Amino acid sequence: MENLLLHQRVLQLSLSATLQMQARAKALKDQGISVVALSAGEPDFETPKVIVEAAKQALDKGVSRYTAVRGSDELIKAMQLKFLRDQKVSYGPLQVLSTVGAKSAIAMALESVAGPGDEVIVLAPFWVSYPEQVRLAGAKPIIVSASAEQNYIHTAAMIKAAITKNTRAIILNSPNNPTGAVFSEQVLREIMEVFVGTAVWVISDEIYEHLVFDEEKHVSPASFSPDAYARTVVISGASKGYAMTGWRIGVVGGPLAIVDAMVKLQQQRYSCIASISQAAAAFALQETPELKSEIEKMRGAYQTRRDEVMRMLKNLPGVTCIKPKGAFYAFLDFSKWMGKMHKGALIDNDDILAMRLLNEAHVAVVSGAAFGAPGCVRLSIASSLPDITEGMKRIQTWLE
Ligand code: PMP
Ligand code: GLU
Repeated sequence: MENLLLHQRVLQLSLSATLQMQARAKALKDQGISVVALSAGEPDFETPKVIVEAAKQALDKGVSRYTAVRGSDELIKAMQLKFLRDQKVSYGPLQVLSTVGAKSAIAMALESVAGPGDEVIVLAPFWVSYPEQVRLAGAKPIIVSASAEQNYIHTAAMIKAAITKNTRAIILNSPNNPTGAVFSEQVLREIMEVFVGTAVWVISDEIYEHLVFDEEKHVSPASFSPDAYARTVVISGASKGYAMTGWRIGVVGGPLAIVDAMVKLQQQRYSCIASISQAAAAFALQETPELKSEIEKMRGAYQTRRDEVMRMLKNLPGVTCIKPKGAFYAFLDFSKWMGKMHKGALIDNDDILAMRLLNEAHVAVVSGAAFGAPGCVRLSIASSLPDITEGMKRIQTWLE
């Protein structure tokens, strides 16, 4: 049987650091150890009851069959309405698509536009799956990093300098996972100007669009100009804003050519997303007043948690964090601790730090290296306030 080989595609693929850490935390919990899991970005809220009710009604009505690849008629209408309301862009019924989470949408968008010999610009710190998905498409991720001093916001000039004749796409992600940075409209407009006259697609991951704090506003780069509209595919979904991670709902809107290509891929891979999830999404995307107030409650809770993390941060010696303006993460900079001896062992890097925090302090966080930002760790504030407070206390005690 030794000649049964796996392909390099999977042999070279990294595991998802976020999902791995979540699994490690669960394994320790299963052994009876009290672990505070601040690892995966997954809302601790239940899906709002009104959405669950819409899904139950669909079940009772026997909504149990394949739908069109893009989605049911109701869902297509709801997606069109959503993009008009939130992104301020108008898409025809053939320009929208529902997907198995935003994750599969990003993968299919990349596969639609890039392959061997091509480059895709990925802005660091980045969500863990971007570079791996670019590589799975056969292309090369070109990493452009912004530092904490820059508030993790990339300038148009930095992006322009990374464009070559092989650049096929860029992934934008605001509000950002893992830093919580929100790119202002002005910065996004400057960035979009860079692409005029190029053949670069913009994959705009707007999955955290509902989660902006204080006076911040979410804007979609697709809305800026006819040029921006024609090169941008917008990817969002129900996981974060509606607390529906397990329902696996992604929504896509964009130019007909790329959406058609993604439909082709989805047709051969998944056929369509689960019909009951579609019914729930068709209801949720309409954002009735009752649901809107639930969404606002969750957003407010994340903001309170963010404030608590920033307050408690003062107790962590040598640790800094840029105040998150959106999403539900805090990206803590432990650079000053790297290479130091602590409790009889060296903290060589952030991977070691995350493992030691898990095994010694029983707090699960994700190492910054997985996000292209060594020396940091990411803490999810999608966990309950008592968990966050306890987690921060445990980190403090461990550091002391
Ligand atoms: N993009 C970003 C930036 C994310 O953090 C996530 C979280 N999993 C996703 C996309 C994918 O979300 P989902 O597949 O659950 O829609
Ligand atoms: N997006 C979340 C995170 O970054 C969920 C896990 C994942 O899909 O990576 O933790």
